[in-house]
Amino acid sequence: MKYSYLVETYQKFEDTSKRLEKTYYISELLRNSKIDDLPIIMLLLQGRVFPKWDERKIGVASRLIVKAISIATGMTVDEIDGEWKKAGDLGLVAGKLIAKKKQVALFSSELTVKKVYQNILKVSEVEGHGSVDIKTKLIAELLTSAKPIEARYIVRTVLEELRVGVGEGSIRDAIVWAFFPKVCDIFFRCGSCGEWMPSVDKCINCEKTIDLKARQNYKSLKVFEIDDVSELEKVDLKGCDIIIGKDYDVNRAAYNWLLQQVQEAIDITNDFSKVAVIVKEKGVKGLQHIALETCKPLKVMLYQKAKDIEEAFEAVGKPACLEFKYDGFRLQLHRNGDKIKLYTRNLEDVTEQFPDVAKVIKEHINSANYILDSEVIGIDPKTKKWLPFQSISQRIKRKYDIHELVKQVPVMVNVFDAMQINNENLLKTPFEKRRKLIASIVKEVAEKLQMAKQLVTDNPDKAEKFYKEALAKGNEGIMVKSLSAPYKPGSRVGYGMKVKPVMETLDLVIVGADWGEGKRSNWLSSFTIACVDDNGNFLEIGKVGTGFKEKKEEGLSFAELTEMLKPLIISEKGKEVRVKPKIVIEINYEEIQKSPTYSSRYALRFPRLIRLRIEKPPEEVSTLAQVEELYGGQRERGSK
Ligand code: AMP
Repeated sequence: MKYSYLVETYQKFEDTSKRLEKTYYISELLRNSKIDDLPIIMLLLQGRVFPKWDERKIGVASRLIVKAISIATGMTVDEIDGEWKKAGDLGLVAGKLIAKKKQVALFSSELTVKKVYQNILKVSEVEGHGSVDIKTKLIAELLTSAKPIEARYIVRTVLEELRVGVGEGSIRDAIVWAFFPKVCDIFFRCGSCGEWMPSVDKCINCEKTIDLKARQNYKSLKVFEIDDVSELEKVDLKGCDIIIGKDYDVNRAAYNWLLQQVQEAIDITNDFSKVAVIVKEKGVKGLQHIALETCKPLKVMLYQKAKDIEEAFEAVGKPACLEFKYDGFRLQLHRNGDKIKLYTRNLEDVTEQFPDVAKVIKEHINSANYILDSEVIGIDPKTKKWLPFQSISQRIKRKYDIHELVKQVPVMVNVFDAMQINNENLLKTPFEKRRKLIASIVKEVAEKLQMAKQLVTDNPDKAEKFYKEALAKGNEGIMVKSLSAPYKPGSRVGYGMKVKPVMETLDLVIVGADWGEGKRSNWLSSFTIACVDDNGNFLEIGKVGTGFKEKKEEGLSFAELTEMLKPLIISEKGKEVRVKPKIVIEINYEEIQKSPTYSSRYALRFPRLIRLRIEKPPEEVSTLAQVEELYGGQRERGSK
């Protein structure tokens, strides 16, 4: 495929904010790509040359791009720097300067997506002596052949700043639109151009009005009629043009089922290229055979929140498996023979940072092939007490002196789920069986490796006792998990519920704010909040921008609060304003953390507005002592 075709699609994305339109453009792009271009297009569409699970980066600095533009255009680095200062975006600069040059010289060859991809890939691969020169030449080569508009997107892609505003959800939908049969009631054929459209008034392709009520003409199409969505599982939909359910609900369910097949494949592989190729070649059936792969991360299962144990039991059924909810970070453990890989919840490869974890799981988990889910917590090397997440967060980022840090901040792995063991995919195996399998392979090592502490019960009193025990040991709360549930990567399904103590709310005074951006630019949209100390000083404890409404009817709006704060503004610097401490708001939050950023030395995690406390004078806001006490309460950690 010509690169210019992809670039046209990028431009269409930038011209619309409508998700359906974007999805349609992507589906067109996918439909028109040959199978060997498809994996590349899936990546470039997301501004990548590596799939999400792959930790490699393009890693090119702006300076190198400036040099490449200089080679391609013959302009000096200083001239390009000048243009860059004016435009603020190197992509735009490249486009403008290439256009200038092209008025004199005609461009050489036409770029293909493959050529662009290959050059950028090489850029990311060359290392060692002379590599900067080689990288610069590879980019300059692309820019020399590029049309101005192509140069803009090449530069943005190389800098990993494509930002064309297409989300993963649109790409997933586009795969369904491009390669699966259409579904009646969900897709409509435009009477003018014949293109299939989602439910839109105007055809995205020809812009003519579409009559959504008009009888659709399915003549000459291969129709598959169904009474129930489960029928889709049994057939090979390849060759079928349209699915017609017995009523609207069945049609909707059929479309959702198709989306779900693609979503599940993405959650397992994190690889859109792979999924698109399978779908194009083998249809839905192909997706049903996607295997898990060790040493490639999959998305983790997420949990919902219950207000108490009773609600949790209601959601997952009785008996349920209760577990400590450890206050650490999630780690996916992969082993394939001698190879161990460790991934965070965000699919980041942190194997290098945790040689101690790699060692202990290699020696004490009795299987050479697995994918396990776990929570890692810090252990105080002296007292052996469990430490809160903050004290081990440095271990995730640290890339040097790792062995020193391993000694200073030792960790313990708590295994709580299994996605694969001994090459057997366990995603559909009930949790009850999965935990037994884990127990059969994990040999516990004090303070280093254990199965998550569990209790299977249907008894509310025993559950309550377990919850208290969990809190006393310094955990965040408990998880209440369904014994019969599968493992659903990437979904916040109710197969497990978290139960944590509800935090007491705080009343805090607004002392500053930031002007918003985009459509919020006329409003103050983020508010600096403060508690009070014994001497009446207001001490900042964080910023809150959540819980405020866009419209007045819905509650306290940004506009209203902005009007209240405007007369109180004391000073303004850039987007930041300081205001007289007058307005008090009630704030909910997930947790209080220590923080060097704010003058109170504390910060709120996930603060959210509950309401305006118009009646409350600022002197009566929550005190620093209260904050300290709440912090202490949540952090009271017993011994193991
Ligand atoms: P939250 O981050 O509040 O949504 O809570 C879910 C997180 O709790 C998971 O992503 C894990 O990192 C963590 N967690 C701690 N203990 C467990 C456990 N026993 N089972 C599942 N997740 C746990």
